[in-house]
Amino acid sequence: MRYTIVSRNDPLSKQVEKSLDERLTRVNSIRDDYNPEVVITVGGDGTVLEAVHNYLDRLEKVVFVGIHTGKLGFYADYIYDDIDIFIQNVISNKYNDVSFPLLSATIYYQDREEHYLALNEFTLINPYRTQHLDVYINDEYFESFQGTGLCISTPTGSSAFNKSLGGALIHPHIKAFQLTEIASINSNVYRTISSPLIFPKEHFITLKPTSYSDIIFTIDHKNITLKNYQLFKFQLSDKEVRFRHYNNNDFWRRVKKSFLPENM
Ligand code: NAP
Ligand code: MN
Repeated sequence: MRYTIVSRNDPLSKQVEKSLDERLTRVNSIRDDYNPEVVITVGGDGTVLEAVHNYLDRLEKVVFVGIHTGKLGFYADYIYDDIDIFIQNVISNKYNDVSFPLLSATIYYQDREEHYLALNEFTLINPYRTQHLDVYINDEYFESFQGTGLCISTPTGSSAFNKSLGGALIHPHIKAFQLTEIASINSNVYRTISSPLIFPKEHFITLKPTSYSDIIFTIDHKNITLKNYQLFKFQLSDKEVRFRHYNNNDFWRRVKKSFLPENM
């Protein structure tokens, strides 16, 4: 197989990368950083996000496999102690590829628009003052939000920031996306739905700011400061990210292992 490795910049991850290179070469795999079939990530789920963003323009041609150098990850199937098992699985060549949807965002300015894709989520956060946003669902006015911001997440992102905001965990086979509030103001003057909302693939949401100040826009692990924005549109993208699973990786088992104490 033609593979590349994207690793986090810490001693353990670099050591695991070196060891993988040695072993994979011995089993006739070729490292090809320019035209890989398989992108192996070594680090955390954040490293997987980084790798996916590095290969956004060639998603149809690559598949991702994650090795976690901490504890279990959501996108990473192996922990670094399991390298032997990983190599055996590569040799056996029995796998199951699963695709997860990406979320698309369009930011409209007066004279242009910008497009982004996220694997976990987008957030709009105003850390400076109350952000006012009119929320439209499929072009129909729904509510006026005021507060710190909003999070729009994918099914695989549902266990990340979305979960901390009280959003639901969504099984990644469900093609849907979710809107959660970040510190909404609810009073006699201001009212929002407050519950997380889950949308099917064909729906879209539009956010129209009714107050204008700098705002932070996060795209997975990255963020940019926006000025002079006019409108935001979010929907599930047709683009998907393929992950290669050699072993059984049940989503609910991962949820249990990640979030519940071991003896429960
Ligand atoms: P980070 O600060 O290391 O990420 C925060 C935590 O989220 C890490 O434990 C990370 O795992 C984990 N994580 C990432 N994607 C996940 C997923 N799909 N399901 C479950 N856990 C996940 O920063 P990062 O590694 O660059 O990751 C960026 C992500 O951090 C963002 O996309 C956002 O979801 C999340 N985040 C969460 C909060 C919050 O919960 N309050 C705030 C900001 C950002 P690893 O340690 O394996 O990387
Ligand atoms: Mn991380």
